[in-house]
Amino acid sequence: MSLRPIITVPNEILRKISEPVQKIGINEKKLIKDLFETMYNAKGIGLASIQIGIPKQIVVLDVSKENEKKKPYCLINPRIKKFSKDTSKYEEGCLSIPDTFIEIERPKEIYLEYIDENGKKKEIKCDGLLSTCIQHEIQHCEGKLIIDFLSKLKKDFIIKKIIKKKSSSDKIIV
Ligand code: ZN
Repeated sequence: MSLRPIITVPNEILRKISEPVQKIGINEKKLIKDLFETMYNAKGIGLASIQIGIPKQIVVLDVSKENEKKKPYCLINPRIKKFSKDTSKYEEGCLSIPDTFIEIERPKEIYLEYIDENGKKKEIKCDGLLSTCIQHEIQHCEGKLIIDFLSKLKKDFIIKKIIKKKSSSDKIIV
């Protein structure tokens, strides 16, 4: 297993559309392990393969709290079959958009179809944080980011702030 660097905005790779996975072979299994390791290391609750630069429809998640038993999910080719009309709001952050939280309203419940890491087809219904997190990660597979929910002005402001921070962190005074 190895930690992979997480790609951040404004890197255009994040805008790529991820391809469905045809076969879960050795490379995919290694990728899934790396995704979990990278996500846990970054203290994130979800990570899509495109965030480490690989445009495959693979997402890992774990929304369990720190003192709870780990509850890892690996979703391959996830498809949302049904959204509820009810919505819920969360302040969402993203490992690819450092130090930024945006309140987003999304459908509260979803019916989801996916393939797990053993190639088994699954169907689940979920709500709350897990549902929000899955919707966020599936949007990564579609090249979408949470800043897309904002006006262009706000979006540009956030990106500029991140670029400024990135360039200033290279400077050192000894
Ligand atoms: Zn994200």
